[in-house]
Amino acid sequence: MSTSRNYQTQGVILKQNKLGEFDKIVTFYTPEFGKLRAVAKGACRPKSKLGGNVEPLTHSLMLLAKGRNLDIVTQSQTINGFLALKSDLWRMACGLYILELIDSFTVEGGDNRPLFDLLIDILNQLSEPDSNETVLRYFELNLLNHLGYRPQLRRCVSCDSPLKPVVNFFSPSKGGLLCPNCNSEENCNYEQIEATSIKSAFPISVRALKVLRLWQSCDYSTAKRVRINPELSLELERVLHEYIRYILQRELKSLAWLQELKREIAVI
Ligand SMILES: [Zn+2]
Repeated sequence: MSTSRNYQTQGVILKQNKLGEFDKIVTFYTPEFGKLRAVAKGACRPKSKLGGNVEPLTHSLMLLAKGRNLDIVTQSQTINGFLALKSDLWRMACGLYILELIDSFTVEGGDNRPLFDLLIDILNQLSEPDSNETVLRYFELNLLNHLGYRPQLRRCVSCDSPLKPVVNFFSPSKGGLLCPNCNSEENCNYEQIEATSIKSAFPISVRALKVLRLWQSCDYSTAKRVRINPELSLELERVLHEYIRYILQRELKSLAWLQELKREIAVI
């Protein structure tokens, strides 16, 4: 980080918390410094020039001054307010889920330019009228790749043999797939130690595995061309959510809202 008292950075606002009557603590994700927190003074005042630029789901350019504890946002300008996301409830819920994922998986100060680029790309893709849940699955899988949790989808994580095109088993605790042989051995071990808290692996279809392998290695414009029926979509969602839940050891708040919204849309 620059040694001068002031520095400039762009960032995507992840969340904000009120600080006292008029100020906010803003958490944002930047290309150079990773996740940062800073104080936006007076951002809660009705005529604040900072206000809208430090709202979640906004890509802003900010000028910051070094503070004793937290730095201070002195000026800001919106680069992209993602208005198409904010004007549609489902897309906004998806956007907030993406932000919560970034916030949950990152610590302050760990820079990760590819993750920042992925975040911007995905928020832009989500703004497109034809976007669907593929955006979320592609983001989840590639977020895991960029943060060192890339699931092993080509070889068995136990015996290292190449996986055959049959039903294999996804093990969240082992970070990848088990072949049918190793999965039955694992199940025997679990029974012996009566470990009720250990989550065993669950089956994954050949189609789901093919899609995940492709999405691990292609860009989004290729990923979105894959046809996904509702059954496959549910399976892909389960695989990624079980794995993410295992890593974070908790549920994300925005995910519960997103799933509730999905059920309501399905009823309509
Ligand atoms: Zn094996």
